Amino acid sequence: MNKIKLAELTDWMKQNHSDLAYISDPGHIAYFAGYESEPHERVLALFVPVDSDPFLFTPALEVEDAQNSSWAYDVVGYLDSENPWNKIAREIESRYGKPQSLSLEKSNLTLDRFNQLEDAFPETDFSSDLSPLIQRLQLLKTEEEKNKLMEAGSWADVAFEIGFKTIKEGVTEQELVAEIEYQLKRQGVMAMSFDTLVLAGKNAASPHGNPGKNAVAKNELVLFDLGVVWNGYCSDATRTVAYHEPTEFQEKIYSIVLEAQLKAQAAVKPGVKASELDKIARDVIESYGYGEYFNHRLGHGIGTTVHEYPSLVEGNDLVIEKGMCFSLEPGIYIPEKVGVRIEDCVYVTEDGCEPFTKTSKELQILN
Ligand code: MN
Ligand code: MN
Repeated sequence: MNKIKLAELTDWMKQNHSDLAYISDPGHIAYFAGYESEPHERVLALFVPVDSDPFLFTPALEVEDAQNSSWAYDVVGYLDSENPWNKIAREIESRYGKPQSLSLEKSNLTLDRFNQLEDAFPETDFSSDLSPLIQRLQLLKTEEEKNKLMEAGSWADVAFEIGFKTIKEGVTEQELVAEIEYQLKRQGVMAMSFDTLVLAGKNAASPHGNPGKNAVAKNELVLFDLGVVWNGYCSDATRTVAYHEPTEFQEKIYSIVLEAQLKAQAAVKPGVKASELDKIARDVIESYGYGEYFNHRLGHGIGTTVHEYPSLVEGNDLVIEKGMCFSLEPGIYIPEKVGVRIEDCVYVTEDGCEPFTKTSKELQILN
């Protein structure tokens, strides 16, 4: 449960004259309540009143799990045979009375669910939107969230180590993926934050390619892009390594990407704009004539989800603040030749940033 962010939510409600908030996105419920679940078509909801205790509403089969999570308030369950909306309406009325202004997540709530609420509370005003607020709250991480991101990052370091140890001639991309995920699972990491990417040789020239039967060969680069979910928080990091001596060209491309990554990372501090960071990395790559081969933004925010705000992209003049967390992941992808990306996610401190992953970024040559 994230008490700090729940308090920020109710502060906002006070200012906006809302007496009840309805959080409907399962990811956002996990963020506030500390209870993670994918309810599929069933209803999972968090109701937060402005001035008394909130409650979590879950399918009956999840009540016990929710009670055993870090959530410290009531959990109300409903059976598959019950109408969840009738139960929600009764529960809200008996706890808090009829709401005057009920805030919703407009970017998440479906129209049929909205209609159910309208039917239950015909006098209530539903115009207050929580989506921009939640986006804003998630931008700035608390100390506790930072620590969870650090732990998730150190599991990514473990994953790289497994991957690097498993590289040998003839091993395929999918075998490397399988080995990394198998060994992580044996150590208790049950979920990756996205499908692990291992791309060897020319395959790495596609930034979001698919690992397949392509085998590692000598004098080629191998790209690993991976991350885990740990205590509800994600990691995301990329390393590109050489299997036996790299060619001069591979080394050159690598050193350009590394220079771009390090320069961007060194420039991170409160006050700099998101677009400026993107430009710093892009300028390095352009200065060597490879600008057209860096065909994506510099980075994205990370937290309970692997892609969130802020977006480090041209045109985004968002000012970076302490507590923001995002990736810095420049790359050069030359079709049929080579692909290099180097990625760390960082936490913005008072005067710089701290990366969540510590695996060396110098070109590693594995034999
Ligand atoms: Mn990323
Ligand atoms: Mn990545």
